[in-house]
Amino acid sequence: MSQNQNGKWVRIAPEQVRGSSNGHVEVGGSNRLCINPQKDHKSESYEDLQLEFNPLVFSSLEQYLPPHMLNLSREVKVQYMRNILLRYLPESERIRIQKHKEYRHRIMLNYPPLCKQIYSMDAEKFFTPSFLRAVEENSEASFRSIMAEPRKGLYTFEMLQPQFCEMLMSEVDNFERWVHDTKFRIMRPNIMNQYGAVLDDFGMESMLERLMNDFISPISRVFYTEIGGTSLDSHHGFVVEYGINRDVELGFHVDDAEVTLNICLGNEFSGGELFFRGVRCDEHVNSDIQPGEIFDYPHVPGHAILHPGRHRHGARPTTSGNRMNLIIWCRSSAFRELKKYRKDFSSWCGECRRKKKEKERLLVMATQQELMNRGMQSAS
Ligand SMILES: [Zn+2]
Repeated sequence: MSQNQNGKWVRIAPEQVRGSSNGHVEVGGSNRLCINPQKDHKSESYEDLQLEFNPLVFSSLEQYLPPHMLNLSREVKVQYMRNILLRYLPESERIRIQKHKEYRHRIMLNYPPLCKQIYSMDAEKFFTPSFLRAVEENSEASFRSIMAEPRKGLYTFEMLQPQFCEMLMSEVDNFERWVHDTKFRIMRPNIMNQYGAVLDDFGMESMLERLMNDFISPISRVFYTEIGGTSLDSHHGFVVEYGINRDVELGFHVDDAEVTLNICLGNEFSGGELFFRGVRCDEHVNSDIQPGEIFDYPHVPGHAILHPGRHRHGARPTTSGNRMNLIIWCRSSAFRELKKYRKDFSSWCGECRRKKKEKERLLVMATQQELMNRGMQSAS
């Protein structure tokens, strides 16, 4: 049963959604797409729905629906396309996605938010005027005017207003209290943290999606062209908590991200510096640190550091007080796909670059030797 555009419930017979076999691609089961898109059809927006796939995927797929489906209700179309997309995922992944969806649903049904105003993007209230101006101007010069680049590819800048930091920290405290009181079993942001919360799981997914698309992507497009910064298309947004009764430190690691934004929210604390040790590809993640790759960054509330996810780093112990950071891992599925077919990452991996230079140096030496040998032969 599905709801049609007039709000009435209608039963869709399998024959009705199957369409004619002429010009249709069989994708398993009965749901099919057309080979050629209906270019003049204006697709609907799916942005407001909680789906396992990016809403934009549905909008672009809609033009490939069988012609008689194009004007059916959005709910019918989304179910149809979802069934097709799910067939491309292995069973275990499908179960994981379904379970996670139910988990999120349980949180959203039961958790009462404290500061509703931070759940939707309000740029004027969230960001500092200097940051907003730089993003509005949207040029390398405007970004550089508010940023420091203490090491190649590491950018630090003032970003969040104190009131927003306060509200987000109160919200997370409120969430942790709720988790404790209701004994709700929550998933922590990653395997390395015992504390902290995934903001996407409790209602902030679309706000963070906008934060990535409208505020991180413009910067990444300029500074991270080599590592997928021009095609960021998904994110993982979470907060980490360090200090008394929280996590103490974080071991040396790389992020599951192309570009990472790490913003200190507060509060009073000492220690907790991030230490960076050079960007590496998958193969070279454990290779030695080279001269010039050592950099330590002390957190300042409201300030952000933007870095490649593959920049090896860790957090030193927070020795007193409590510290909370907002972290957004930005990912590019296109970049990950392309990476599978390449072996040389000397444009961004420190070790690939060192090996390439070493190879070139040896080649030059061998050539010199060869020339000298030839010179001696002709002289004798
Ligand atoms: Zn490498």
